[in-house]
Amino acid sequence: MGKVLIIGAGGVGTVVAHKVAQNNNVFTEIMLASRTKSKCDAIKEDLLKLYNVEVQTAQVDADNVDELVALFNDFKPELVINVALPYQDLTIMDACLEAGCNYLDTANYEPKDEAHFEYSWQWAYKDRFEKAGLTAILGCGFDPGVTSVYTAYAAKHHFDEIHYLDIVDCNAGDHGKAFATNFNPEINIREITQRGKFWENGEWVEIDPLSIHKPLNYPEIGPKESYLLYHEELESLVKNFPTIKRARFWMTFGQEYLTHLRVIQNIGMARIDEIDYNGQKIVPIQFLKAVLPNPQDLGENYKGWTSIGCRISGIKDGKQKTYYIYNNCSHEEAYKETGTQGVSYTTGVPAMTGAYLFMTGKWKKPGVFNVEEFDPDPFLKKVAESGLPWQEEINGDLEF
Ligand code: NDP
Repeated sequence: MGKVLIIGAGGVGTVVAHKVAQNNNVFTEIMLASRTKSKCDAIKEDLLKLYNVEVQTAQVDADNVDELVALFNDFKPELVINVALPYQDLTIMDACLEAGCNYLDTANYEPKDEAHFEYSWQWAYKDRFEKAGLTAILGCGFDPGVTSVYTAYAAKHHFDEIHYLDIVDCNAGDHGKAFATNFNPEINIREITQRGKFWENGEWVEIDPLSIHKPLNYPEIGPKESYLLYHEELESLVKNFPTIKRARFWMTFGQEYLTHLRVIQNIGMARIDEIDYNGQKIVPIQFLKAVLPNPQDLGENYKGWTSIGCRISGIKDGKQKTYYIYNNCSHEEAYKETGTQGVSYTTGVPAMTGAYLFMTGKWKKPGVFNVEEFDPDPFLKKVAESGLPWQEEINGDLEF
């Protein structure tokens, strides 16, 4: 039980704020801080109207450690939930150490000038968090996040050894726009256009971007063309579950989306380096973000479902076994509850869930941890109660 500070007032921050307010018996004081305070204030109004919960708001530049430390020392949060951008992970972790706050995020650190993400930068904080007696929970969205907990749950209850893991992420929703991304466009496009990678027999295998794809069948949705991508949870899962022989991540894309993406790349709009435009420095992908639809505004007309889960095979009691655990989430239901679309919802609900488990002492231990290193059972119970129930299929016919 204690004070929570949410940093970031985008799509995900909006959902976290709603969910934290819905659990204000545990989150006894709430502050929402971001670069643009007016966005925090708009969310504050909604929470007051909907739940009669009073939230404080603040302006902060999360790239600036001193500003963060001043804010943390003033509000004194027990836990800081970072749902700003991956660029801010390290500054927020530094400030947490300095001000004595615990930390949770949904995406691993990425430098602004290099489209490259890996956990090493954040894992390097382990000793400092441990010595300070503080907890840092990494990757507590849906993927990473729920998919990592699904894997931990499978390892705990269904397998002696996990051998094959396919994380499958389908967005079968339609927002009615020719092209839009479901979360921050800059982060999303950087992720998808980088080289693909999967784990096989003890090493990483690299492939050209989006060069491996096949239709996969999603529950209640049917077959959807799915593309092999590198996704950050693969890095921690193969480390934490060393019996895994192969781990891959698949995401669905429509042809229209891929055509736009190809054009964006071909005309240089996906560039992340600075260019000179009329005497002013601009980064093309940041300019593109400014003209694309805001992911937060997609919710109103979004129809259909997301379906994200883990398809696992391995050995239990000497026998081969398959296991599929997943959640289907309706964009329309997410919008009705929080005014955001399903991708923000499926990220924000798990972030609140991790924070809830921290506050109630179930996910609290000094150091820096990925979510699969905690007990999956209380997480799956709370995440289901909070809007993301899960289904399972045992020994179904899964393609690997
Ligand atoms: P948005 O772009 O909608 O929101 C980001 C928010 O962070 C904005 O309010 C923005 O401020 C704020 N922000 C950015 N830079 C700073 C800064 N320097 N100081 C203070 N605030 C800042 O992104 P999303 O809500 O879609 O995504 C949030 C996070 O969630 C991202 O890290 C993303 O990678 C992650 N994510 C994780 C997923 C998962 O399943 N694990 C899935 C989807 C997203 P402003 O309003 O001024 O722009």
